[in-house]
Amino acid sequence: MRTILLGPPGAGKGTQAAKIVEKYNIPHISTGDIFRENISKGTALGKKAKEYMDKGELVPDDLVIEIATDRLLADDCKKGFILDGFPRTVHQAEKLDEFLKQHDMPLTVVINLEVEDKVLMERITGRRVCPKCGASYHVTGMPPKKEGICDVCGSELVQRKDDNVETATNRISVYNKQTKPLIDYYEKAGIIANIDGSTPLPVTFKNVSAALEA
Ligand code: AMP
Repeated sequence: MRTILLGPPGAGKGTQAAKIVEKYNIPHISTGDIFRENISKGTALGKKAKEYMDKGELVPDDLVIEIATDRLLADDCKKGFILDGFPRTVHQAEKLDEFLKQHDMPLTVVINLEVEDKVLMERITGRRVCPKCGASYHVTGMPPKKEGICDVCGSELVQRKDDNVETATNRISVYNKQTKPLIDYYEKAGIIANIDGSTPLPVTFKNVSAALEA
């Protein structure tokens, strides 16, 4: 199972990815998570990525392509993978295609989570994440059992630095300009499954699972 989760910020890609990992036991590759990890460790890559992420801009293609394809070469990706947040530009998608062709790893399906812009902002600003294990919550939609504390590992939840109204507005606009054309790109390739991402979590996941198994 080799799949890409496509969709605007706040569509629920990370949440669906966590459910996919649980059910199908394949690695979840989130370029955003890789950058955040590098930022917290203070690496050179993290410092570079931070300049763009704090503004809600995309990190330059060459940097992202390198870290994503490196990660895809790891042994655990032999059984499949879920890409979350990559590719985000047509150039990234073309380079990914080249890479997957070279390594004989054809994509199974591209899941496109569709959510209206007005719902996205509410989801983004209410999101809280666990800095330790990566679990994601929403203050009203998907609260942890104990306020502010991760159900999985007990760490204190935080708000992502780019989950504020100003940065999120830019991220949504960047998505519409630079990432949305990928829907057309994968539609032409005949491998896209459009799924309503605004239904309750179990319903969305049922539809995602059906698309993965089709
Ligand atoms: P995410 O966690 O997927 O919402 O990504 C957070 C931020 O990381 C984005 O707003 C970008 O600044 C950066 N980023 C993550 N993935 C990519 C990508 N494929 N291309 C460019 N920038 C990315």
